[in-house]
Amino acid sequence: MSSKPKIIRSIQALRKIVACTRTSGKTIALVPTMGALHEGHLSLVKLAKTKCDIVIASIFVNPTQFGQGEDLSTYPRDSKGDQAKLAQLGTDIIYLPKAEQMYPEGFATTVTVTDLTNVLCGVSRPTHFAGVATVVTKLLLQCLPDIAIFGEKDYQQLLVIKRFVQDLNIPVKILGGPIIRETDGLALSSRNAYLTKAEREVAPKLNETLLNLRQNLYARQPLSTSLTAAKRRLKTLGFDIDYLEVRDVKDLSLITKTINRPARIFVAAYLGTTRLIDNIPVRSVAQAKP
Ligand code: AMP
Repeated sequence: MSSKPKIIRSIQALRKIVACTRTSGKTIALVPTMGALHEGHLSLVKLAKTKCDIVIASIFVNPTQFGQGEDLSTYPRDSKGDQAKLAQLGTDIIYLPKAEQMYPEGFATTVTVTDLTNVLCGVSRPTHFAGVATVVTKLLLQCLPDIAIFGEKDYQQLLVIKRFVQDLNIPVKILGGPIIRETDGLALSSRNAYLTKAEREVAPKLNETLLNLRQNLYARQPLSTSLTAAKRRLKTLGFDIDYLEVRDVKDLSLITKTINRPARIFVAAYLGTTRLIDNIPVRSVAQAKP
């Protein structure tokens, strides 16, 4: 395929090109995004290129995953810039579905995942994961890729997608890509564009606090007091905390005392009106005291 990506806007055109690709025996990787692409998104495209012959990047700002009062109308959009970045990486196909095609009149189906969605972001964004699961199901069925790649930045989302793909027997392998960060530690996010200059200076402290918290845990400090201290620090810095928790990497069960299994520290916090999320792995540690 040529180095200039094919721009596909309809499901029909996508199906045609996917069918041709399959007939020629080539494998397909899908990287779903909402655009305003940064190095985090591009790292997933690069990973996709190492795994399959053909890479499809989709760009769709999915309305159903935004709750009432969230930032759907102001969500950053940069169609031209996105296409240039994807072209530079040698992306084969850019899929730009239209909202009318994704959700035609009469659309009445939702994919919901229980349990995993009742915690972390699912508490303050109760309709979010159903929106994600529904649109990702549609994208997977439209693109029929061999693999689809999602970032660990949205770790809970990655687990939710793995869950429904397994439960619904969708024949695709789901891969996670590592979190890409600014040099100061701030996880790249399209929403970082909302931060004021002053907020941008404070924002890396979110990751720094997670790293300090992990150090305290590795130094056998009790989990509960370490969490309390980390929350106090974030509040002092001006963060409005949604959650700061340690949870199991597979089922997201809450860990309150001993970290006796692979876990991650998860945080969501507002800086002004911008909601930031982050997470880091934490290995099992035998706590000195509960
Ligand atoms: P979004 O456009 O925010 O829906 O993100 C599209 C994909 O990029 C999702 O799988 C995200 O988890 C992933 N992603 C977003 N930010 C990052 C990052 N900083 N590092 C790695 N992956 C990311």
